[in-house]
Amino acid sequence: AQAMLSPTDPQVVALGYHPDASKVDKTKFPKYAAPQACGNCALYQGGTAATGGCPLYPGKQVSIKGWCSAYNKKA
Ligand code: SF4
Repeated sequence: AQAMLSPTDPQVVALGYHPDASKVDKTKFPKYAAPQACGNCALYQGGTAATGGCPLYPGKQVSIKGWCSAYNKKA
């Protein structure tokens, strides 16, 4: 299985990924608003699974409850 994306990965710090969207630093990422999460992001590849891929982070899994600043609402 692929490794989970770490929020401390240098590639990730800039984009603000956190595996728990409710814990996103809203002072750094004011665009975050509930109920945004990987699970309703257009880039999430996991469907309804708890974890899935994201094309921004090749080879890693993100949480369906995660979030990053590249969030793009699923149509
Ligand atoms: Fe999650 Fe979307 Fe960010 Fe990928 S782009 S980590 S699916 S919020």
